[in-house]
Amino acid sequence: MTAQLNPHGDVAVLVPAAGAGVRLGPGAPKALRPLAGEPLLVHAVRRIAAAPSVHTIVVAAPAADIGSVRAMLAPVAPVTVVPGGAERQASVAAALAAVPAGPEIVLVHDAARALTPPELVESVAAAVRAGHDAVIPVLPVVDTVKEVDAGERVLGTVDRSALRAVQTPQGFRRSVLTAAHEAAGDPLTDDAGLVEKQGVPVVCVPGSELALKITRPFDLALAEHLLTAGA
Ligand code: C5P
Repeated sequence: MTAQLNPHGDVAVLVPAAGAGVRLGPGAPKALRPLAGEPLLVHAVRRIAAAPSVHTIVVAAPAADIGSVRAMLAPVAPVTVVPGGAERQASVAAALAAVPAGPEIVLVHDAARALTPPELVESVAAAVRAGHDAVIPVLPVVDTVKEVDAGERVLGTVDRSALRAVQTPQGFRRSVLTAAHEAAGDPLTDDAGLVEKQGVPVVCVPGSELALKITRPFDLALAEHLLTAGA
């Protein structure tokens, strides 16, 4: 059954899903790779649509796959599908341009974080609603981190207590994200990075282990296991 989005919701979620996914090995674009028999994008959109504040979902899909992406998402949730760009940032900008008037909170969420729970969508949106212009979900860094030179020689050890691993969805007041994309220069891999360049404070909220980015074959195997375990 198709999920109903909330017509009174104040959140639009942009889902860049136009990447090739070369690190997963040869095959379909990453967001369209199967996880337990369904594309990653379907898993991601189903969880976003289950978040009660969500009014609009816009997916940026590979230009060649627009028709098939519309067809695969139609039974999942009402979703707008637009062609993505060559870089993630261009895909996000294309999705942002398709958000209708209404939602004043915009979340940007990678399709590759397919098991992200709806509760994380809500907690990021709630922090924006509470007055923060830009909000990112983060986890502590558990490994020791070294800085190295081009020859893999260690230059130093970074204080990991001051480091955070950043996930999505990243949340923004709509006007802040729009201004950051209009001013954007070099492509960045993260929307909060664009907003930081505008001098806007970015705050952290606790992330979720389930929001792992499915990038390499090991991540896909882990995600299959988590789904079997009920994620
Ligand atoms: O390549 P990376 O893992 O950083 O991609 C993160 C997300 O951005 C993925 O969901 C991917 O599909 C998306 N992306 C995109 N357009 C691109 C490149 C990546 O929508 N040109």
